[in-house]
Amino acid sequence: MKRRDFLKGAAVGGALAAAPSVRAETQFKWKMVTTWPKNFPGMGAGANFLAQTIGEMSGGRIEVKVYGGKELVPEMEIFDAVSRGTAEMGHGAAYYWKGKSEAAQFFAAVPFGLTGQEMNAWLYHGGGMKLWEEVYAPFGLIPTAAGNTGVQMGGWFNREINALKDLEGLKMRIPGLGGEVLKRLGGTPVNLPGGEIFTSLKSGAIDATEWVGPYNDLAFGLYKAAKYYYYPGWHEPGTTLECFINKKAFEALPKDLQSIVLNACRVANQDMLADYTARNNEALHALVKQHGVDLRRFSDEVLKKLKAISDEVVAEVAAKDPLTQKVFDSFRAFREQAVAWHDVSERAYLNARAL
Ligand code: CA
Repeated sequence: MKRRDFLKGAAVGGALAAAPSVRAETQFKWKMVTTWPKNFPGMGAGANFLAQTIGEMSGGRIEVKVYGGKELVPEMEIFDAVSRGTAEMGHGAAYYWKGKSEAAQFFAAVPFGLTGQEMNAWLYHGGGMKLWEEVYAPFGLIPTAAGNTGVQMGGWFNREINALKDLEGLKMRIPGLGGEVLKRLGGTPVNLPGGEIFTSLKSGAIDATEWVGPYNDLAFGLYKAAKYYYYPGWHEPGTTLECFINKKAFEALPKDLQSIVLNACRVANQDMLADYTARNNEALHALVKQHGVDLRRFSDEVLKKLKAISDEVVAEVAAKDPLTQKVFDSFRAFREQAVAWHDVSERAYLNARAL
């Protein structure tokens, strides 16, 4: 906009510009418990952004205080804490709650599942959200999508992975369904919290680890502990982060504030994916150009087998109870459609751009 036009616009919008900046009195003081260390890049920053956005959009009528992991309750207890009303909101990832319902995993990430863009399409416009609400309803919780990491990386390895036999005996930090897949290929999956990954990899206690992507992996200094950085992150192709809300607390809000909370989650969901995309670009460049990281792609042989085993593992999980099967059926049908469309759109374009 030219300065002249801007000034004209400012004159027209004068009444708006002169509006008093009085904040409404705080009516609701909420607590948000998280599974992330306080201010953790990406996910923790996303939780902060969400709390801040709710405060701003509501003109201060809702104030949300964010607690890092362990500050109010241990990381893996936030689901119960919000369910019983110790806090009004929780920020985490649904695959942490598979002990509550196996179906929860489909709302975070499953191996060879949906990308970030596809997850949002399924959740918001493909029936996914309704199913997620059904899964969390018995716990008195309302789920929302509140962030996405995009495609993660395959991980850091201290040895080359050229063929399937190289996965045999591999001791790798890889939680969840990805870990189960590795196990069936002769590896040993290990589950370690973020804070223990670097030293375990550096000391040789583990041979490999996955974490998130260049942005978070650079911050952890993982390039100092392993030589090879493999892609793609077949096990987490677009992990959705969540914010779940205590249903009673939500229903105590007037309608406009309910809308603000839910829409602030949508904003945070979109913003985190943009944040990761921008930061991963920069961080990958730094890893390769400044730190000399050896970037490798898993071979087709390895990826094909990982996919075949993943499909088996995911189908077995789905068969565990009727609700999980219902979620999986919806997820699978959506993935089939998305594959057909993205073959001729996203993938075709990315291939064309790389010619
Ligand atoms: Ca990961």
